[in-house]
Amino acid sequence: EKLRQQALPMPVRQATESKGLPPALQLKKISKKFGENEVLKGVDINIGIGEVISIIGPSGSGKTTLIRTVNRLETLNGGEVVLFGEDFIQSNHSLSIKKTRAGMKRIGMVFQSFNLFPHKTALENIMLAPRYHGAPSDVNVNRKQALYLLDRVGLLAHANKYPHQLSGGQQQRVAIARTLALSPDIMLFDEPTSALDPEMVGEVLKVIQDLAKEGMTLVIVTHEMDFAMSVSDRVVMMEHGVIQADAKPYDIESADTDVPELLRMRAFMGIDN
Ligand code: ADP
Repeated sequence: EKLRQQALPMPVRQATESKGLPPALQLKKISKKFGENEVLKGVDINIGIGEVISIIGPSGSGKTTLIRTVNRLETLNGGEVVLFGEDFIQSNHSLSIKKTRAGMKRIGMVFQSFNLFPHKTALENIMLAPRYHGAPSDVNVNRKQALYLLDRVGLLAHANKYPHQLSGGQQQRVAIARTLALSPDIMLFDEPTSALDPEMVGEVLKVIQDLAKEGMTLVIVTHEMDFAMSVSDRVVMMEHGVIQADAKPYDIESADTDVPELLRMRAFMGIDN
């Protein structure tokens, strides 16, 4: 309770009324090769502000590579990325460092492996995040915000524990809080629950669902089909480096569909056709 009184509210970005505003993210003809292997073959997607998109598809279809290109962890061979209406990545020429940095600050990524500093407590891991990104902040404010974020992911009581004293699910929740500490406008999740024991998946999905309810723009690569259907505005299915289908959960579920792409998606998801 004492810790909670010290925590400082730090609201996540609310979904802005998106009429008239550009999409949060526009991927245009994204292509990517690893050697001769063309992994992304011209992917186009628009993601609105406050929209929640799940990306599903067979292993090796390019899902992880796609979101890694958006976070600049992979270079592009073709295409471009536009972030909130601003040029962010262009395959044919490089943008100014200033533009690149400004864009990077708006995107947060959560990985399959949590990558916490093992010798830092949960609280310290979160407090370090803003500083690593060059935002010097008052240490008291920094601490209060970190406590607030720990509370949001339900881990206030574990603030002073080290990663090895936490379960995988708890570590991933700390990792999500750490990403939130950077105040991103978009969060990318790369299979956030696939390294977890089954009994810990739910607690992490719950945190992601809360972010969705609060209006955060989310792009989630996942194998959790029920979760994808319940949390997403749209589910995007990739196959062999292209988008095979992009649909609202309601349209995927409605049984009388005769759209082959949706039937294919339903089959992949294990929904009876
Ligand atoms: P998914 O996330 O859908 O399982 P990935 O994006 O991880 O698919 O991988 C797509 C393809 O790209 C796979 O054939 C994979 O082997 C290949 N790939 C991914 N990363 C690399 C890399 N760093 N070097 C070479 N090939 C890679």
